[in-house]
Amino acid sequence: MIDHFIVHYDEIGLKGANRSYFEQMLMNNIKAKLGSKVKRIKRESGQITVVANNSEDSKEIKQGLTEVSGIAYFSPAIICKLDMDDIKKQSIEFIKNEEFTTFKIDAKRHDKHNDLDSRQINNELGDHVRTTLDKTAKMKDPDLALKVEITRSNAYLSYENIQGVGGIPIRRKQKVVTLLSGGFDSPVAAQLMMKRGCEVIFVHFQNDNLVKKSVENKILKLTEQLSKYQLQTKLYIVPFEELQKEIIMKVPPKIRMLIYRRFMIKISEDIAKQNRAFFLVTGDSLSQVASQTIENLRATYAKSDMQILSPLIGMDKKEIIAISRKIGTHDISKLAYCDVCSYFLPKGPELKASTKLLDDLQATVDPEIVARTTESAIIKEF
Ligand code: ATP
Ligand code: MG
Repeated sequence: MIDHFIVHYDEIGLKGANRSYFEQMLMNNIKAKLGSKVKRIKRESGQITVVANNSEDSKEIKQGLTEVSGIAYFSPAIICKLDMDDIKKQSIEFIKNEEFTTFKIDAKRHDKHNDLDSRQINNELGDHVRTTLDKTAKMKDPDLALKVEITRSNAYLSYENIQGVGGIPIRRKQKVVTLLSGGFDSPVAAQLMMKRGCEVIFVHFQNDNLVKKSVENKILKLTEQLSKYQLQTKLYIVPFEELQKEIIMKVPPKIRMLIYRRFMIKISEDIAKQNRAFFLVTGDSLSQVASQTIENLRATYAKSDMQILSPLIGMDKKEIIAISRKIGTHDISKLAYCDVCSYFLPKGPELKASTKLLDDLQATVDPEIVARTTESAIIKEF
């Protein structure tokens, strides 16, 4: 029964002197994610082995490991003694119910302290599987590749590589604030930041109109899905209606969207400071929509005290959609909703706003309304 999981990382392996620091962080994050399902996590021979308390939890453990940043891939495994007879016996038990015709044995010795030689294992175990199960050995593209990993105290058998999130482990103090709309882009931007080791705090600006419930529901679902990729998640829901009405009164239709975004950034900045976050993050992608022309982005971002990262800036929509499928936000983003930004907007928005124009229009908005809006944010934890 599978109760071991061999976890492989790539980038953190490259970090020289920092390596053990990153490994420890990854081990802590795995432990925090899987809680009591894990009996032990050990570091041996350049890889991390997660030992389950109960092999019946293996499905949940597999799912959990696909959500931890820093894991390139992992292999569900069983453990054997450092003994050829045990390896042979357990190999047959392990693979006999799998469907395959061709196979190969891929033995790897991580520790040279014992006399189990990888070539000998490949030959002896290969013969044993071939004759016992009546299968054909094939070195190139076999149906099943049985990996035998020899470490100092045990051998591990596995035949499946399950892809992980990749990237590097999340460090809790490395916080960023992502402006989360209900679209496809910002959830992807958030997950890319998590993948690079950041803890993401979410801010959503919500218009309290008739469709409020469906929007809120969508944002909660998106945040819930994204919260799987980090240990603790905070979502700020900021009621935007009063401020939006004020902007509609003071700002001409062509520019409104950009002024909405100026205030979203300003309020998010306050939230970021309260949480000691380093950066703001948006789902902007250059020239994808009118508010994202290079001039408009420059003018929109210009007054922010805090730097803004836009990890999707150079991506095409189809690349973004592909990631959204992979991270499980696509079908939630697809649900219909009425976004704050599409409210009261003209058909021909400004494409080349100047910073000065936005500064002047932003200054016409009543600061008390801005302060009230900021204070009325509701916090939800996941
Ligand atoms: P998305 O698919 O993320 O909604 P978009 O292509 O629709 O992006 P815009 O609506 O112009 O682009 O928004 C650009 C960015 O501004 C979003 O990616 C998001 O970071 C932020 N944003 C827009 N609307 C909101 C909102 N209601 N609440 C929080 N952030 C928002
Ligand atoms: Mg949007």
